[in-house]
Amino acid sequence: MNKRTKIYEGKAKILYEGPEAGTIIQFFKDDATAFNNQKHDVLEGKGALNNRFSEYFMQRIDLIGVPTHFIKRINMREQLVKKVEIIPVEVIVRNVVAGSMAKRLGLEEGMALPRSIVEFSYKDDALGDPLVSDEHVTALGWATPPELDDMIAMTLRINDFLTGLFAGIGIKLVDFKLEFGRLVEDGLMRIVLADEISPDNCRLWDIETNEKLDKDRFRRDLGGVMEAYREVAKRLGLLQEENSEIRDHKGPVLVSDNKD
Ligand code: UDP
Repeated sequence: MNKRTKIYEGKAKILYEGPEAGTIIQFFKDDATAFNNQKHDVLEGKGALNNRFSEYFMQRIDLIGVPTHFIKRINMREQLVKKVEIIPVEVIVRNVVAGSMAKRLGLEEGMALPRSIVEFSYKDDALGDPLVSDEHVTALGWATPPELDDMIAMTLRINDFLTGLFAGIGIKLVDFKLEFGRLVEDGLMRIVLADEISPDNCRLWDIETNEKLDKDRFRRDLGGVMEAYREVAKRLGLLQEENSEIRDHKGPVLVSDNKD
C-alpha cells in the first residue's frame, strides 16, 4: 500500500489525505468505543459494514437533494469524501425517548415523542460532548445563524427520509447523530452532511419486538453486536444472506424492475 498522509485518527475512523486536492479518504476501523473511550473493543467486520452503510445512506440522502461530503466507496474499508471544515457540533434528532434524554429527564425509554426533537452537543471529548442550546452554537461562533438554520432543515429532512426508509424494513429510527461541515466549491461556501451514518450513531429498534439493532448492544453489554448490524444490512439488501458477504447491489428493488 502506498504511504499516505494521515490527517487524523478518531475512535472509529482514520482520515488520510485523498488523491486530489480537496479530497479525503475515510478508513473505517473495527474499533468500538463508548462512554468517552472508557469501554473499548474490536468488532471484526464492523468497519467494512459501516463503510457500506454510510455509502448507502449518503448516496440516498444526496438523491433527495441534501448535499453530502460523499464521493465514492473505494474498497471494503475506505471511502473517498470531500474535505470539509467540520462544525464542532453534534446534531442529535430524537423520535423516541432513549439514552441520555431518558436519563437526564427521568423518562422511560421507548416513549414516542409527539414531535421530533433536535439537540446539539459541543464536540469536545475532554468535556464529554456537553449538551448546548442553539444560542451557544451561534453566540460562541461554532456556526452562523444561517448555517444553523441549514443544519436544522437538512437534519429534519434526513430524519423524515430515514424514518420512512427504516419503517419499510421493520425498524424504528429512535434517534441518531449527524455532523456537518463547510464545503467551498466554485467560490461558494455551503453546509453539507459529513462524517458517517451507521448503527454506530443511530438507535434502531425492531418495530415488532423493540429488539435493539445498534451500538447500544455494545454499550450495554447485550452481546450480538455484529449480528444486529448484519441484520440491519440484510434488511437493507446490503448483504447476501448465505455468506454475509457485502454486496454491491442496491437495497430494495423497484417494483418496475421486478417484472418478468
Ligand atoms: N450519538 C453518537 N455519538 C455521540 C453521542 C451520541 O453517535 O457522541 C448518537 C447515539 O448513538 C444515539 C444518539 O446519538 O443514537 C443519541 O445519543 P444520546 O444523547 O442518547 O447519548 P448516549 O446515550 O449514546 O450517551
